[in-house]
Amino acid sequence: MACVSYPYEAPVSQSLYDRAAVVTPGGVNSPVRAFRAVGGTPRFMVSGTGPYLTDADGREYVDLVCSWGPMILGHAHPAVTEAVQAAVARGTSFGTPGQGEVELAEEIVARVAPVDQVRLVSSGTEATMSAIRLARGFTGRTKVVKFAGCYHGHVDALLAAAGSGVATFALPDTPGVTGAQAGDTLVLPYNDLEAVAAAFAEHPDEIACVITEASPGNMGVVPPREGFNAGLKELCERHGALYISDEVMTGFRVSKAGWYGLDGVVPDLMTFGKVMGGGFPAAAFGGRADVMAHLAPAGPVYQAGTLSGNPIATAAGLAQLRLLDDAAYERLDAVSAEVRSLVTEALTKEGVAHRLQRAGNMFSVFFTDEDVVDYAAAKRQEAFRFTAFFHEMLSRGVYLPPSAFEAWFVSTALDERAVERIAEALPHAARAAADAVDPAESSA
Ligand SMILES: *Cc1c(COP(=O)(O)O)cnc(C)c1O
Repeated sequence: MACVSYPYEAPVSQSLYDRAAVVTPGGVNSPVRAFRAVGGTPRFMVSGTGPYLTDADGREYVDLVCSWGPMILGHAHPAVTEAVQAAVARGTSFGTPGQGEVELAEEIVARVAPVDQVRLVSSGTEATMSAIRLARGFTGRTKVVKFAGCYHGHVDALLAAAGSGVATFALPDTPGVTGAQAGDTLVLPYNDLEAVAAAFAEHPDEIACVITEASPGNMGVVPPREGFNAGLKELCERHGALYISDEVMTGFRVSKAGWYGLDGVVPDLMTFGKVMGGGFPAAAFGGRADVMAHLAPAGPVYQAGTLSGNPIATAAGLAQLRLLDDAAYERLDAVSAEVRSLVTEALTKEGVAHRLQRAGNMFSVFFTDEDVVDYAAAKRQEAFRFTAFFHEMLSRGVYLPPSAFEAWFVSTALDERAVERIAEALPHAARAAADAVDPAESSA
């Protein structure tokens, strides 16, 4: 099993992938889509409806990725589609302010108490980049604290996850990011308040902000320890730094008010994306009125965007948020619990060491027998078991994130038939995970 080969079962996807590789680096427009972590042919999807995706070979999958979170109501929800069609018919971009932006901003402010004001942008990356600029402009300080394993988009200064020692200066994670860009970023181990306290002690009056995923989902799901977020907030307050909670993934997903709705810790700034765009490029950052007042044109910190607050994206986001009421979150919690218990049951039955970790309705499986509290622990899992598990699920019509380090996402569209398909696939996938052989060992 050193070289795992999977049945060649997606010829149309494969030929599209071959064409794509000629004209696009690696054949994809966002790296994880290329299936590099699990191998095999990435499925080119042609349509989605409710809980299902259909690929270019005509195969249907129950979707547990949901476009990495946004499609929380399932695909092609009639109310969202209708709002989008109506918006398109009115014209697609004006480069002026519009009513949709006001309404989406009002919806966000109404849902998330710490947000007095919000600025709309087009991607989560833009939101975190702008929030950090604002934090630096507001405090007049340069350094940023982030945590290893937390992803905040491909912002240069935040693509530094290396160096998990206490208050070590980060080395860039990727060519193209200079030492100067990463050099003001301090990367600390997640869930370690002492490391944060030590960083503040070592760099008095230099740290502009601490940015953290409200509950990390980009190293697999690793929730904050009891008191961790509150501790961050307190340390930031004591040292005059801003506490930025990145809710691009958790916002409007895990509750009406996102992770804030579950833990109640009040950030100075927050970032949003994914769910709030309804499947279109819309994101936002917002927070304290006195901080947001520093943003142009109200204040001196520059930030702008040609398509910011785009009328189609705001119409889609607004339509989706308006359907996300208490009943929708109850449904998401219930179906998440159902799928989680099926996964646990299947893996336990096959004797596969695992930890199923969750944050509200988001969850992921780690193939390990230790609780995963940080990135180092996440990386100690037996990811090769996930590869076998993933492909067995895929071949049985269940689309999981193609990496052991990503969250699984449910939608309100997951009905009995869809859950039944997941339940039927899981025992086979669990068996495949149990039988998987570490390629590093078998090739010896
Ligand atoms: C997805 C994500 C981002 C980046 O959002 P993009 O829209 O992909 O730029 C930032 N932060 C978190 C927590 C995310 O999950």
